[in-house]
Amino acid sequence: MSAFNVALDGPSGSGKSSVADTIAEKYGMEHLDTGAMYRALAWKLDQMKITPESGDALVEALKTIHLDIDHDSVAVNGQDVTRAIREPNVSKLASLYSALPEVREKLVALQQKIASKKGYILDGRDICDVVLPDAEVKIYLDAAPEARAKRRHAQNLEKGIPSDFDEVLQAIIERDRRDTTREVNPLKISKDAEFLDSSNLTFDQTVEAVEQLIRKALSKESA
Ligand code: C5P
Repeated sequence: MSAFNVALDGPSGSGKSSVADTIAEKYGMEHLDTGAMYRALAWKLDQMKITPESGDALVEALKTIHLDIDHDSVAVNGQDVTRAIREPNVSKLASLYSALPEVREKLVALQQKIASKKGYILDGRDICDVVLPDAEVKIYLDAAPEARAKRRHAQNLEKGIPSDFDEVLQAIIERDRRDTTREVNPLKISKDAEFLDSSNLTFDQTVEAVEQLIRKALSKESA
């Protein structure tokens, strides 16, 4: 197991999760998809008919929800939700509930506990500054909204999910707006992070560029 952690932030559709999966495999690390945790919690709260405005009921509900996550599955109170949380409506729900301080507090604590063992790559929105401020490697992976929408649209069609490019683009722009303007831990480029724009890179080129940044950060660490 590697004795360092990688923090990988970026907007939705930047390819963070797939890149993190590949990097984890190459370096013998574990990938923790923090977005999947927000999705699973949002899915469950919605099922429980708890709205983001529920106040005390939401605080009580959070105490009853237990998440189990590993590299290819997520379960909520023992129920496997790996597929359910990828439905497009859950993207919106996750972005709504993730603005709540109580939700973030619960998940940030869990993420920090998991990553304390080292050898983790966490992808999300607030990893570099909030979840793992001491991570040995910090990267912000960006791509233009149009490039991200193009990839998401192609993925949808590949999976046989009906898809309209303009709708996908609008949903991405709206999610970016919510994620960057919320009061608690908004998505922003950490001043400690290496910035990588993947708009004009293929997946393999992006992985290669991330590997270079990891090597650079680790050589600085050991210098
Ligand atoms: O990464 P993914 O698109 O699966 O994340 C779903 C939503 O969860 C994001 O739009 C964002 O609102 C929220 N999120 C977050 N902080 C993270 C990871 C995800 O607020 N670290």
